[in-house]
Amino acid sequence: MYFRTKIQVLKRTVILHSNKTQSIQRKHPWIFSGAIKSTAKGISEGDVVTVEDENGQFLAKGLYNDGSIAVRILSFENVALDNAFFRNKISNAVSLREQLNLFRADNNICRLVHGEGDGLPGLIVDFYAGVAVIQCHTYGMYKLIEKIADALQFALKDQLIAIYSKSSDTLPPQFETEDNYLIGDVPTPHLALENGITYAIDWVKGQKTGFFIDQRENRKLLGEFAKGKKILNTFCYSGGFSLASLKNEATLVHSLDSSKKAIDLTEENVRLNAFNGEHKSIVADAMQFIKELPEDYDIVVLDPPAFAKSRTKRHKAVQGYKRLNASTIKQLKPGSILFTFSCSQVVDKQLFNNTVIAAAFEAGRNVRILAQLHQPGDHPINAAHPEGEYLKGLVLRID
Ligand code: SAH
Repeated sequence: MYFRTKIQVLKRTVILHSNKTQSIQRKHPWIFSGAIKSTAKGISEGDVVTVEDENGQFLAKGLYNDGSIAVRILSFENVALDNAFFRNKISNAVSLREQLNLFRADNNICRLVHGEGDGLPGLIVDFYAGVAVIQCHTYGMYKLIEKIADALQFALKDQLIAIYSKSSDTLPPQFETEDNYLIGDVPTPHLALENGITYAIDWVKGQKTGFFIDQRENRKLLGEFAKGKKILNTFCYSGGFSLASLKNEATLVHSLDSSKKAIDLTEENVRLNAFNGEHKSIVADAMQFIKELPEDYDIVVLDPPAFAKSRTKRHKAVQGYKRLNASTIKQLKPGSILFTFSCSQVVDKQLFNNTVIAAAFEAGRNVRILAQLHQPGDHPINAAHPEGEYLKGLVLRID
């Protein structure tokens, strides 16, 4: 017994209950704490651990976390998590974005690494015209940041001018992470392009890594509806949907956010692009504003922040989406278009659709679904990890 424990410590082993290995066999990248039979003494948050079955058979390697998701798996093979491992993973991630044609003269913003979707749970890397911004969601990933930086340099070569590490928002304060440049030093805001539109991106002061890249394709789709239209973009942050509308000859765009800082970013981006349509920004609470619209808008965008961050909050979140959508649908004139989104991972596509349909019913309006929207290819969903699907949206015509 003593001998076995000692080996376990050396190997930093986590042993699963015999009836809890199915999900790992299906290559799901999470191990919940309830599946663990024993953990080697001395393992602490952020350690690289080896996962075994009760007979000592190797199952996976991953990063240990003191929480309900106890291990996030990085490999189902018994390999070292060294520089070569990260170079391989990040080169694959970059080559997917190349395949998606996201490095172009008119587009140099994309998500380079999307956690589980790129086989690197806990890691986000966003790319803004030569600058990679790393955001770690686990301390284990943060401890590997030098390997990640090495791999980014290897994969991006001279496309890369700087790497900024920003994990202080995503990791608990006890880890005392520092936000700083790992290579280079680029003043912010930094100009970058999405589908021909210039954005001033500030990863130091902005929300998340500075920009909501996941709405790129949905902004483009809105652009196709925008010509000659009056548009209200609520929860606008730095104005992505507003800019896509103005570029496509919307006549009037109102951008609304409760954060003055977000509105300042929107104004800056509107100024930078100098499109023709009329633009006005509004600092207000979207729910209040929507109760009485000052214009007969042709199109409204609702892109609120995640209403639910955990399963226990799901019911309340659903009620929130229903209220927001019902109030909006009630206000819209017949023939108008609503782009409505949810980025709450725990509210799945079906639940979101049902909620919006229930909202239309409550508003006493007939609606038709013109399109079902989701996250773009640079936010890939690992098929073994359906939880990775978080962004969904509907384009509705309000009759
Ligand atoms: N649509 C944006 C991203 C939205 S992020 C884009 O394309 O970039 C969510 C935004 O909602 C944040 O900017 C946040 O400040 C804003 N927000 C949060 N609560 C709000 C509220 N009650 N009313 C208006 N805006 C709100």
